[in-house]
Amino acid sequence: LEVTSKPKLQIFLCAPRGFCAGVVRAIDAVEQALRIYGAPVYVRHEIVHNKYVVEGLKAKGAIFVEELDEIPDTKQPVIFSAHGVPKSVHADADTRKIFALDATCPLVTKVHREAEAHFRRGHQVILVGHAGHPEVVGTLGQLPKGSIILVQTPEDVENLTGVDESNLAYVTQTTLSIDDTRQMVDALTRRFPKIIGPYKEDICYATTNRQEAVKRIAPTVDAMIVVGSSNSSNSQRLREVAERSGCKLARLVLRADDVDWDSFKNVKSVGITAGASAPEVLVEEIMDAFAARFELDIEIVSTADESVFFPLPRELRPLNGASR
Ligand code: SF4
Repeated sequence: LEVTSKPKLQIFLCAPRGFCAGVVRAIDAVEQALRIYGAPVYVRHEIVHNKYVVEGLKAKGAIFVEELDEIPDTKQPVIFSAHGVPKSVHADADTRKIFALDATCPLVTKVHREAEAHFRRGHQVILVGHAGHPEVVGTLGQLPKGSIILVQTPEDVENLTGVDESNLAYVTQTTLSIDDTRQMVDALTRRFPKIIGPYKEDICYATTNRQEAVKRIAPTVDAMIVVGSSNSSNSQRLREVAERSGCKLARLVLRADDVDWDSFKNVKSVGITAGASAPEVLVEEIMDAFAARFELDIEIVSTADESVFFPLPRELRPLNGASR
């Protein structure tokens, strides 16, 4: 009888990884709304950027739309995703008397308020972020159209013209690369020494901690797996950070089936993390898939403790009479 032993593989599991407080709150908001108001509950945009999460909520009775005009006249709630929405969406919801529940992450709302405060004080606001990302669309939409200048690269900063240098302020997207953003802030402060900004930048704690964990592990392993969706900004950044930290084989995968197993044939060590919108069950699925192919030695590498918790939107808190 021939016994074929599996090759050995060392796995370093990043901690923290996966769900952040804003994502937990947004998913809980949809589930709680379904419990209180029954199906269907409408959700504008993917509640968080993860297809598995979205499919799970669809199965429970959530209907996902991109814009409010796709929703029929209804008394059922409409939930705005964690990424935030332009003010015009709130206004449209009011006009149509839509029962809107806002699951925007409080850390995104904080950026909205910062942008508004700068504007009220008469500053020209600059937003550092990626064009087209829903969070950026939402932040741009906090002020009258055209009031915020979006910059994506240091070249954008160099090419800025017609601004009042003595009267500028900036805010940033929450899920950017820490290193890229530092460069952007340097470019802004070099060109406009008087520019006002947040204490560091607006990158959230979850993005920061997940990137730091990858930076610790990626240089020491043969490969890195980031569990997450390709449309998830913070997950994309984690893959980039892994690559930039010297890891040649860095993959962003949603499910175990997405792993190109041939590339992993000869690896001896793998780091695993998950974007802020990726559920732990998908990390487990990938660990199981590795366990089917390798004899695993698993080590958890913890680089930060997280205890952030955001309560549900007021209308969905049980003690506020959320029942019907
Ligand atoms: Fe909020 Fe950060 Fe999570 Fe986005 S990644 S939902 S900003 S905590």
